[in-house]
Amino acid sequence: MIYLDHNATTAPASSVVQTMLEVMGRNWANASSQHGPGQDARRVLAAARATVARVLGCKPAEVIFTSGATESNQLAVRGLLEVAGNGRRRVLFGSIEHSAHLRLARALQQQGVPVDFLPVLSDGTLDLAGTRALMGPDVALVSLMAANNETGVLMPTAEVAQMVHASSATGAVGATGAVGALLHVDATQLIGKLPFDFATCGADAVSLSAHKFRGPKGVGALLLRQGTALAAQSPGSQERGRRGGTENLPAIAGMATALDLLGDVTQEALRLRGLRDALEAGLQQALPQTYIWCQHQNRLPGTSYLRIGTLQAEIVLQRLERLGVAASSGAACSSAGTEPSHVLSAMGVGADEALAAVRLSLGHSTTHADVDAVLAQLPPLLLPMLSPMLPRGLSPQEPPEIVTH
Ligand code: PMP
Repeated sequence: MIYLDHNATTAPASSVVQTMLEVMGRNWANASSQHGPGQDARRVLAAARATVARVLGCKPAEVIFTSGATESNQLAVRGLLEVAGNGRRRVLFGSIEHSAHLRLARALQQQGVPVDFLPVLSDGTLDLAGTRALMGPDVALVSLMAANNETGVLMPTAEVAQMVHASSATGAVGATGAVGALLHVDATQLIGKLPFDFATCGADAVSLSAHKFRGPKGVGALLLRQGTALAAQSPGSQERGRRGGTENLPAIAGMATALDLLGDVTQEALRLRGLRDALEAGLQQALPQTYIWCQHQNRLPGTSYLRIGTLQAEIVLQRLERLGVAASSGAACSSAGTEPSHVLSAMGVGADEALAAVRLSLGHSTTHADVDAVLAQLPPLLLPMLSPMLPRGLSPQEPPEIVTH
């Protein structure tokens, strides 16, 4: 199989699986227990926390282990909002956040919390002027993704951090001494794909999920700047009272192993960008109807979001499947539906074009041979369907023989 869906999830590295098996078999004791096995488990937890902190540029005390980015995002928004400073109640969400996060935004609205959405431009980038216009002394929190999971476009989180913190200058001092408005960044798609450093990123809180960088599913973290108050959403004594529940030690250790394995992220980013660009150029040459969204924006190196004319995504994905290529029509969490992507809708893309959207996301397993195979085998399958005389999306003939992998 050629796996081109790395933004949905990645296969765990074998050393991650090994670590998890070892920890599950050996360190099954409760890390809060006082006896010897409990102390051993506590040491494994501390070592994992130290690794996460070293790789991501934060202090061990700034790491809160969670069940993944969905929980980290919720914990950040609800937990920071609950203790926000006087008069600060409004929350600003990016309008192209992950669908689960937008559900949280709507839930907050239903609970009477004032919520606004940061606009995006038609090229998929953040509208900075529109963002600035939404700032104000009543803003408690801004929640913005670092990189979009569909288009791959990078958001200017450092500039937004300056804006958010400048807006605090006139604001009230929060419960903790943390001043005014705060910035939460969902870095789920960025961490592991591009260099990241919590110390200098400007955000007050950052979410991540291990399965996006070859770690296990169901584990992640919220990095929280030291001194920032947070109301636990599942109270308990673990994680310094910020997230209760017996720690999932095998998964946490697996996540630390995956982070340790990342190595030179820049080198891998350059490799993937080369492969992605070759794939895009090859498709555009063989199928001139190919349109690539956000092609000239600052994007994640392995992400390509495209349509072949207005051929329905379902048809393109079926052909890819027959070739042994796994891809998706967008976010895995919403790709089962036939609704146009909310990301493309926010960019002003019409439903016909949006329903043709296919996301190819390259990652650690992707090779030159994979790109060559797709370029050699996909265009012959799609070309017959692209005749201007045919009704959209109908196949005029049975596709030619297919070579599978
Ligand atoms: N945020 C973004 C940007 C994502 O891409 C994802 C995963 N698709 C999530 C949050 C949620 O991550 P998880 O399902 O691991 O909780």
